Amino acid sequence: MVTVLDTTLNRPRPRHPEKAHRPDQEVLRKPEWIRVKAPVSKGYLETREIVKSNKLVTVCEEAGCPNIGECWDKKHATFMIMGEICTRACAFCNVATGIPMPLDAQEPASVGRAVAQMGLNHVVITSVDRDDLADGGAQHFADVIHAIRAAAPGTTIEILTPDFLRKKGALEIVVAARPDVFNHNLETVPSNYLTVRPGARYFHSIRLLQQVKELDPTIFTKSGIMVGLGEERNEVLQLMDDLRSADVDFITIGQYLAPSKKHHAVKKFVTPEEFKSFETVAYSKGFLMVASSPLTRSSHHAGDDFARLKAARAAKLAAA
Ligand code: SF4
Repeated sequence: MVTVLDTTLNRPRPRHPEKAHRPDQEVLRKPEWIRVKAPVSKGYLETREIVKSNKLVTVCEEAGCPNIGECWDKKHATFMIMGEICTRACAFCNVATGIPMPLDAQEPASVGRAVAQMGLNHVVITSVDRDDLADGGAQHFADVIHAIRAAAPGTTIEILTPDFLRKKGALEIVVAARPDVFNHNLETVPSNYLTVRPGARYFHSIRLLQQVKELDPTIFTKSGIMVGLGEERNEVLQLMDDLRSADVDFITIGQYLAPSKKHHAVKKFVTPEEFKSFETVAYSKGFLMVASSPLTRSSHHAGDDFARLKAARAAKLAAA
């Protein structure tokens, strides 16, 4: 008699099953300007405790963000709502992929409580993609915004949303909840979309941002990209023009870092000088705010940047 042992039973599910078969990508050595300190401070540990005790998920952890030591020390965290499982499978992203759990009806209240406990002036809320939901999670986004307004009325709210592709009426629900900043990241230039962001459509994302302004011109709009994914400089400049055509206020540009050898390879480490040049060009194209540096992430320094954004708009209106 032969006994067959099923060794798959206790094996943890891979975080990115769709990437498991891919060949390992070449890993470039990080330049010294990209290195960050390990997160160990008292503020970091306090933030971690608030996140855990409210059973919340953060993109800071899920994306393996290099800024977590700095941000959590200052009690800046970006909450990721609607679970830890994403229905897309972008080649750059570290968030786990698969079939998500049903929405947690208690989550809006939990996020509101955590924001109040942390005493935040400004909070950033993002989510996984929820293509499985009829409205793409739009109503849940709105519920979270309302819960934060109720629990922490002085806190300004920035949302970083999915693209709500093929979810008619979803954007209107989110905009009606009146976030202070509506961020939707383009992530990369259009020529990279099929390999880097295959489930998304570049011009749909541009149009989404444009529609936010059409629906409510008082809401600030923001978008970000990663560089080092193989894009050409001219493509980045064209993308800036596309965002300005959609009246986007704020662009963020940061270095792509590969979460693993199975993710899209880092093709290049862009130098701090090149980031500075992108900043100069972007301001010349009319953005109210530009953040462009190797460690720029769309939620990095978001509170300070929001204050500068408001001041920039006030100055522009005064000069008109
Ligand atoms: S930059 Fe954003 S995602 Fe990264 S640690 Fe800071 S708040 Fe979190």
